[in-house]
Amino acid sequence: MQVLKFGGTSVANSENIAKVVAILKERSKKHQLITVVSALGGATDTLLQLGLLANAKDDRYKEVLKDIKDRHLRTANELGLDFEAVEYLNEMLSELERIAQGIYLINEFSVKTQDRVLSFGERMSSFMISEVLKKEVPQSQWADSRELIVTDANFSRAQVHSEVTHQNIRTYFKAQTRKVTVLPGFIARSEKGDTTTLGRGGSDFTAALVAAALDAEVLDIWTDVSGMYTANPNVVQQAFPIREISYQEAMELSHF
Ligand code: ASP
Ligand code: MG
Repeated sequence: MQVLKFGGTSVANSENIAKVVAILKERSKKHQLITVVSALGGATDTLLQLGLLANAKDDRYKEVLKDIKDRHLRTANELGLDFEAVEYLNEMLSELERIAQGIYLINEFSVKTQDRVLSFGERMSSFMISEVLKKEVPQSQWADSRELIVTDANFSRAQVHSEVTHQNIRTYFKAQTRKVTVLPGFIARSEKGDTTTLGRGGSDFTAALVAAALDAEVLDIWTDVSGMYTANPNVVQQAFPIREISYQEAMELSHF
């Protein structure tokens, strides 16, 4: 079993998603795969903005909602998703709209509601990716990380209950013979069944959890920067790739 995680930039638009699908198709010829995906690049921030504006009774939340709808429907359209898939995407978008109206009306945007709102990013991206992938790899299927990953109710940075989560993952994948399973990163559920999130950037963690539970042979974190740089190359011009780095040094760098 191999676990491949693709972050927001890797799935930011239909062009990049097509590349991801090509990688998965190729790799699935030889290996059974699980892929964990982030929301379309920037979508989590936009969803957060949506909730904050609605909560502030700022009508601009409607524009933000429209942007979210347009972007996802455009991507679905460019990817050539069929009618039913687009219908399902529309249902998710309508649900998001009703939640945003609720926030606007009652002036409540608790961390619990925030997690619910942010979850749409990964739910929509993983669904779309799974739908395109099905055309290339018929033996592939979407699965809901919220059925597998159980956390406490510390919304927005929930702590994972490792034992039950590991057990759920093992039980679920034991019976799986399909070639690729697509999982949304970042999202989980509390014991009570409410949607939770694992903290910003949490999709890497989702992938690691799945890989660890299954003792996967490989965990690949795909990203838009090749290798590790001395600094963020998008910010620091003089940044250069590090030829060799120890785990210890990598850990130190990550803290900065
Ligand atoms: N989409 C989430 C975020 O932007 C999680 C992730 O991408 O890892 O924080
Ligand atoms: Mg990340």
